[in-house]
Amino acid sequence: MTDQADRINTTAEPGDLPATDEEWRARLSPERFAVLRKKGTEPAWSGDLLHVDSAGVFTCGGCGAQLFSTDDKFESGSGWPSFTRAMADGIIEEHDDRSFGMRRTEITCARCGGHLGHVFPDGPRPTGLRYCVNSLSLEFRPSEG
Ligand SMILES: [Zn+2]
Repeated sequence: MTDQADRINTTAEPGDLPATDEEWRARLSPERFAVLRKKGTEPAWSGDLLHVDSAGVFTCGGCGAQLFSTDDKFESGSGWPSFTRAMADGIIEEHDDRSFGMRRTEITCARCGGHLGHVFPDGPRPTGLRYCVNSLSLEFRPSEG
């Protein structure tokens, strides 16, 4: 049996993902498209996932890959959902980003290439990292039961 949670097939191969902007545009809302595919940034404090009330997992808004856990979420005061680490090695890729006259490290979903946000070296223990992520790049799935 299938339910609504299966509407994004998390076992899909990369070849099943949209390949062009047009295909992505058909799958994503305009707001998600602007962030995930065009590296936009949602306004600070605007995101739906800044605060969540239950434990769960944050999946990629583009492909459904599991990216972050509420276990690693913390209140950074930045206005964007913030995490100390990804759920697993290799699911997030880092890229040198020198746009806007800054030198930052962009983070993207390793599976679909969707833009997530940036990672900064000013986070809390134990990693010292702060994954600063757009709510629009994520979906939240509360834990069962
Ligand atoms: Zn993805």
